[in-house]
Amino acid sequence: MPVTGEQTVSNVSDKPVLLRRRLLVTGRVQGVGFRPFIYRLAKDYGLVGTVRNSTAGVVIDVQGTPRRIRSFQQRLAADHPAQAVIEDIAVTSEPVVHRGDFAIIPSLENEADSVRLTPDLAMCEDCRREILDPNDRRYRYPFTNCTNCGPRYSIIESLPYDRHRTSMRRFTMCPECQKEYTNPADRRFHAQPNACPVCGPHVRLCSHRGHPVAEKHDAILHAADALRRGRIVALKGLGGYQLLVDARHDGAVRRLRYRKERPEKPLAVMYPSLSMIASHCRVSPTARRWLTSPAAPIVLIPLLREPDDMSTAPAASVTSNVGLLGVMLPYTPLHFLLMHELGFPFVATSGNRGGDPICIGDDEAFRNLGDIADFFLMHDRPIVRAVDDSVVRPLEQGTVVIRLSRGLAPAVIRIPQASPTILAAGGHLKNAFAIAHESRITVSQHIGDLDSPQSRRIHVRHIGDLTRLIGRTPSGIACDSHPDYFSTSHALTLDAEVQYVQHHVAHVLTGIAEHGLRGRLVGFAWDGTGLGEDGGIWGGETFIFDHDMYERAAILRSFPLPGGDAAVRNPRRSAIGLLYSLFGSAFGRKLPSHFKSGIDKIQIDVLERMLNRSINCPTSTSVGRLFDAVAALLGVSAEAGTYEGQAAMMLEAKAWESQDDRPLPYAIVESKSLCLDWGPMIEHILNGLIDDRTVADLARRFHATLAAMMAEVAVRLQATQVVLGGGCFQNTTLLEMCRGSLEKHGLQVFWPQTVPINDGGLAVGQAYAAARGIRKKGSDNVSGSPRQDC
Ligand code: ZN
Ligand code: ZN
Ligand code: FE
Repeated sequence: MPVTGEQTVSNVSDKPVLLRRRLLVTGRVQGVGFRPFIYRLAKDYGLVGTVRNSTAGVVIDVQGTPRRIRSFQQRLAADHPAQAVIEDIAVTSEPVVHRGDFAIIPSLENEADSVRLTPDLAMCEDCRREILDPNDRRYRYPFTNCTNCGPRYSIIESLPYDRHRTSMRRFTMCPECQKEYTNPADRRFHAQPNACPVCGPHVRLCSHRGHPVAEKHDAILHAADALRRGRIVALKGLGGYQLLVDARHDGAVRRLRYRKERPEKPLAVMYPSLSMIASHCRVSPTARRWLTSPAAPIVLIPLLREPDDMSTAPAASVTSNVGLLGVMLPYTPLHFLLMHELGFPFVATSGNRGGDPICIGDDEAFRNLGDIADFFLMHDRPIVRAVDDSVVRPLEQGTVVIRLSRGLAPAVIRIPQASPTILAAGGHLKNAFAIAHESRITVSQHIGDLDSPQSRRIHVRHIGDLTRLIGRTPSGIACDSHPDYFSTSHALTLDAEVQYVQHHVAHVLTGIAEHGLRGRLVGFAWDGTGLGEDGGIWGGETFIFDHDMYERAAILRSFPLPGGDAAVRNPRRSAIGLLYSLFGSAFGRKLPSHFKSGIDKIQIDVLERMLNRSINCPTSTSVGRLFDAVAALLGVSAEAGTYEGQAAMMLEAKAWESQDDRPLPYAIVESKSLCLDWGPMIEHILNGLIDDRTVADLARRFHATLAAMMAEVAVRLQATQVVLGGGCFQNTTLLEMCRGSLEKHGLQVFWPQTVPINDGGLAVGQAYAAARGIRKKGSDNVSGSPRQDC
C-alpha cells in the first residue's frame, strides 16, 4: 500500500533527512519474480534507487526517509513472492546521492560469492487459466509461463539468471511479449522464459524414425490419439524425455516394460486431477500438499485395495505388487494440454533404457528411444541439463525424499560455519553429489546408478556444470571409502585434498546437517550395503555423535552373505546366510517348505560349501539384507529381485494386511558395543509360519521388533536426540514405527526431509563431515584410506 502524508524529520534547511541503504538479499531470490516485487515495493514507498541480480544474490540500493526505508525492509521480509526463500539480508549504509527514480538495472557479472539456483516450477493457476481461454493470446500455448512458474534450472546456461544466459536466448521476444517483460506492473515483468505463440518455441510430432507427422496443437491432438490407441509416445518434457503410455492398458504397459527393459520396477503415473488420484489411492494431507506444490514431484502413496472407479484405474502391470503407486499432476502446460485431451491417467516414466541417464537431446532421444517409442512429441526449446522427476514419500507428518531432482534441485542446506569449497562425490547407486561452499551445501539433482558409461559421463559433466555455475573450484574432496565406487575413483583423479567418509557415518550426518543438530546424539544408519571400516558390509550401525567426534556404539548381529553382491539380487541368499549363522550346517532342515520349492538342492549345496569354507561370504550387519532374508523366509519376495529393495517393499506391503504391532522376542547383547540380536526373532518366525494370515502378522511384527530394538538401544545409550538415515527408511512403515517407539521414550527423532534419506543424500553427509572436520573418536580423520580387501 502506498504511504502518503508521512511526517518526516527535518534538518535545519527544512529538507527531509535521507538515508541510503544497500541490501544484499541471498537465498532463492532469482527467477521467482523477486526484482519486480522489489520494484513495486520501492515505488509504493516512494524510494529511489536500483535493484539488480548478481551472482551473490539480489542487490537493492534504496534511498529515502528512515521510516519509509524501515517499512520497505519489513514488507520485503514479510510479503515476498511465495516461491522465494530468503536466507539472509545483509544491510550496509551508503552515502546519499542525487537520484530521480527507482529502476531495475542489468546484472553485473563476475561478482564474487554464490547464488541459490532456482529449481523449475510447476505451471501456476494464472497461466493455466490463460491457456484454456479461447480469447487469450496464449490459448493452448504449451510454453506459457510467468515470474511465478516455468522452467529455471533446466534452461540456465550460466548465472546470473537472465534470458540471454538461458536456452531461451535463441527466441527473440515479439513486441507484445517485450512489453510484458519490461512493464513492472505485469505478471511477466522480467520473466526470463517469457514466450507466446508468435515468438516462442513450438511442439511437433514425429514418427519414431523422425518423419514429421503434425505441428503445434495438431501435434498434441495426434499424440493424444496415439496414446488412446495404446501407442508409446516419447515426450520432451521439462528436464528430459519421458515415455508415456495409457496406464489403463495392460498390454501397452507390458510392451513399454519389455522395450524399456524394466520388468518389474513400479512406473509413475500422471493423473488429470487430484480427485481421480483420490479415487485410486489414499491421499493424505501431506500427499495433497506435495502434489499441488510448485515442485510437483512424483508422490508415492498407497493404492486403495478396491479403487472407486475401475474404468480409469491403472493396470496391474503398472504397480507389480508393491501396494504403492507413484502419482503426479501435470506440471508443464504441455503435459496439461495433452492431459486435457485425454482425461485418463498415463504412465510417465523417464526416457531412458535400463540404468542409463534420461535423454535430453533430440538426436540422443531418437537414438536411444527410437525402438521403444512409436512417436516423439518434441519441441525446439533446448534442455540444458537433465532434471528427472523428483520422488517423495509422505508420512502422516513429514516426508521421505526418495529422489531429489526437478522442482527440488539444486537443494541448499545451510551449515553453521563457512567452509572451504569441497566437492562431495556421493555414492555409487542413486548418485548425486554436493558442493560445500561458504556456509551452505548445494546438492545436485539425481544422476543415477554409476554402472553404465553414460551415467558416469553425466556424473563427471554435472560436477563440472555445477562448480561452474557456483563459480568455485573445489580445494577438497569428500568421498566414500569404497574403492569400487565410480564416484570415489573419479574424485581421486581431481587435484584436491581427499577425505574419506564412511558410508553410514555419512548417512547419519545428512540428517545432522539438514537439521543443524549440535551436541550429543545417537544416529541409526539402516541401509542396504556400504563398506565398513573393518572391510565388512555394514548397514545396521548405531553411532554416538558428540560434537565433532563419533564412535560406533551398536551393530546389528552380523551374518554371512553367500556370494557377496549376488545376495543383493537374490533375497534367498541372505536368508540362507542368516540361517547358517543361527544353525550352522543344520540350516537346511530349518528352511520353510515353500522356500525349498523355489531353489534347487544343488544350489543350496553350493552355497553351503561356500559358507563352510568362507569363500566369497563377506559378513554383513545390513538391515536391508535382513529385510531380504525375512521376506524370503516368509515367501513374500519375488523369485529373484529385479531391483534392490524390491523384497523389502513387498514385505512392507504385506505388513499393511495386519494390525499386530507386538514385537517378537529379541535380545540386545552387550559386548564391546551393543549388538541387536535377531536370533530369537528368526526362530519365532520359523515356528510361527502357518498360513497367509500369520505371514502378514509376522511381517508386521518384524517391523515392530526392529522399532523396539532401536528404542531399547537408544535408551541404553542415553540418547535424547536420535537421527535416522539410510535406504531402509524409505520404508515409511518402518520409519513411523521407529519414530513412535522412540517418542514413547521421550526422545526427539530427526531424519533428512529435504534431501534423500537413501544414497541420494549421502553427499550431504560427506560434505558436512569434511566441512566440519568430523572425526572418529581416537583418530585424526573420518575414516582411513579405502580398503582394497573386499
Ligand atoms: Zn505462471
Ligand atoms: Zn511473443
Ligand atoms: Fe547407503
